[in-house]
Amino acid sequence: MASKQAKEFLKESDEKAFDLNHRKIINYNIDKYNTAVKVGISRFNNLENSKRKGYSLKWKVIENLDKVLPEFESNFQCKGGKVIWAETAEEAQDEIWKIISRNNAKSVIKSKSMATEEINLNEFLEKKGIETLESDLGEYIVQLLGQKPYHIVTPAMHLSLEDIAKLFHEKFGTPLNATAEQLTLKARELLRDKYLKADIGITGANFIISDTGSIALTENEGNARLSTTFPKIHIVVVGIEKVIPSLTDLDLFWPLLSTHGTGQNLTVYNTILNGPRQENETDGPEEMYVVLLDNGRTNVLAQKEQRQGLYCIRCGACLNACPIYKNIGGHTYNSTYSGPIGSLITPHMKGMEAFKHLSDASSLCGKCTEVCPVKIDIHNMLLANRRDAVKNRLSPEMERLGWKVYTSAVSKRSYLDFFGGKFKNFILSTFMKKPWGKRRKLPTLSEKSFSKQWKEKQNNPLE
Ligand code: SF4
Repeated sequence: MASKQAKEFLKESDEKAFDLNHRKIINYNIDKYNTAVKVGISRFNNLENSKRKGYSLKWKVIENLDKVLPEFESNFQCKGGKVIWAETAEEAQDEIWKIISRNNAKSVIKSKSMATEEINLNEFLEKKGIETLESDLGEYIVQLLGQKPYHIVTPAMHLSLEDIAKLFHEKFGTPLNATAEQLTLKARELLRDKYLKADIGITGANFIISDTGSIALTENEGNARLSTTFPKIHIVVVGIEKVIPSLTDLDLFWPLLSTHGTGQNLTVYNTILNGPRQENETDGPEEMYVVLLDNGRTNVLAQKEQRQGLYCIRCGACLNACPIYKNIGGHTYNSTYSGPIGSLITPHMKGMEAFKHLSDASSLCGKCTEVCPVKIDIHNMLLANRRDAVKNRLSPEMERLGWKVYTSAVSKRSYLDFFGGKFKNFILSTFMKKPWGKRRKLPTLSEKSFSKQWKEKQNNPLE
């Protein structure tokens, strides 16, 4: 039987793929992205070389996680920070809650972080009565709408300026025809005070650096800097795969991320944090924690081939390139990570049985692999996922039976020719109509098979 998630996925993608307004907005935004990225990546002297280097560094670090993560831990803790290891989302939530309640904190300011999305941190904190505010503009917009981020880099990519102006008009009374600048100013005005008053700042991390025990944050709005500077406590929630060996590797990963993520040479603000405020320093938090999140990543690591999914630097390029993503949109995947990379890692992180269908949601055109800055062989890994699902007998029983019958039917010409076209068409329309989909017309097989027609032609060449 198909999983509940698979059925929902099929239903929602069918609706979204025919939502012309959605398509118009996404195409417009992705077109802008494509133009910018073309310019961005043209600035590399030898892009292919940089991508290869990125791949090999990530390969090395993922193969040695058991050494580099403890190295990061000890270097970070040397400077007064504390590392917390969380195996599951619940463990991460509990640890964060311990810090919050120990400090009697009432409010949290957050900067964009997919790892916190993964552990449903906002919902968890809201239930506990903690005011939690997203400070990244795109995240703030989707939070106001009560939605999840649509895209790992641009959370509000599915919204037009008019949509956002209408939202701000309803929430804050700004003019319906407000410009992007006016809306940004309004958000800034609303958020500025919150940075000063928040008890705790929570961020993700784009990279954690093993040899110096540092956190690297990349952003365009300066909100992460404010979230980490004003509050007395800073908590970083980060997946264990985000580690890189050395501070010097940032000269490769920063431009790879910015050019492939947004087309910028370098993102506007790049910050390296080395722990809580030291004695002679004037700003920064008094306490700093890094929650190292597993939450299914070691299951990805356990896959010899697919573990390369952990090399991902979350640039979003494969999402923007994917013909499936562009048609069905980010929310349909119902997972924190959408698009090709989400389809690759989610079945291992959240369960193959429930999420194997995502690996089928690909045309295998290979565009995702082509654009990936760290050369993850995404489309072939999706095939590997499909293979593993079949090997582990996770495909529906009817499908397995169907393939068995089909395999033996096509194994001999005499079997294939035994039934006439009428019967074959009957079988097709009975068993294939539903999976074929209501928007496509089933092909009609001819009355006589090709081999019969061929034989007849040979016997009567003039006909
Ligand atoms: S898989 Fe590659 S292209 Fe896709 S988000 Fe990750 S780094 Fe970017």
